Amino acid sequence: MMDAARPLILIIEDEKPIRRFLAAALQSKAYRIAEAETGREGMSRASNEPPDLVILDLGLPDMDGLEVIDWLRDWFGGPVIILSARGQERDKVMALDRGADDYLTKPFGVGELLARVRVALRNRARRDSTSEEEPVFRTGELRVDLAGRRVFVGETPAHLTPIEYRLLVTLVRHAGKVLTHRFLLREVWGPNHSDDPRYIRVFVANLRRKIEPDPSRPRYIVTEQGVGYRLLEE
Ligand code: CA
Repeated sequence: MMDAARPLILIIEDEKPIRRFLAAALQSKAYRIAEAETGREGMSRASNEPPDLVILDLGLPDMDGLEVIDWLRDWFGGPVIILSARGQERDKVMALDRGADDYLTKPFGVGELLARVRVALRNRARRDSTSEEEPVFRTGELRVDLAGRRVFVGETPAHLTPIEYRLLVTLVRHAGKVLTHRFLLREVWGPNHSDDPRYIRVFVANLRRKIEPDPSRPRYIVTEQGVGYRLLEE
């Protein structure tokens, strides 16, 4: 593969062992790597050679990771995956609402890291290549016919209410990506709706009953604890 064709991933993380772990795991899959220890260094590297994806630690020595997201989002269209420590749910939600694409909670494994990077780059490529969306989305037994506004589980039609359908389509359009409660409430119910995540839980439960093989152990719509929901792609 030509060097320039290999995606460049910028890692902004002050903890050297984690940076090394990330770099080694990603290089083993032929990604190119740029590393930065501080927010400022990360910003300067990103300006010098714009990366295809950024992995950003929220706890940096010189500035808040959220400020780096704001700076990136002014000009950078690629995916941003944040690193956060356990118990920083609020920070994660804030980062996602400010334009981060996904997160990894420390400690995380190589498999999880590579899967997140793959999904983020694929979603990005899909956004770039298709101005019109795919007419039919499939994962496992689930089939969402977006043109015909119909949903099937295997060969059986699922009868969704308009809100359930809108919720499912929003998840489908961002398949693989974690969507925050606030984002879903805004997209499905509109900007003036309540911000209460309990509201959405009822609708997700009903939707799961209609499309999941075992609603108590969801295979398609998974809960991201304290953050939101994600539609898994197979
Ligand atoms: Ca840190």
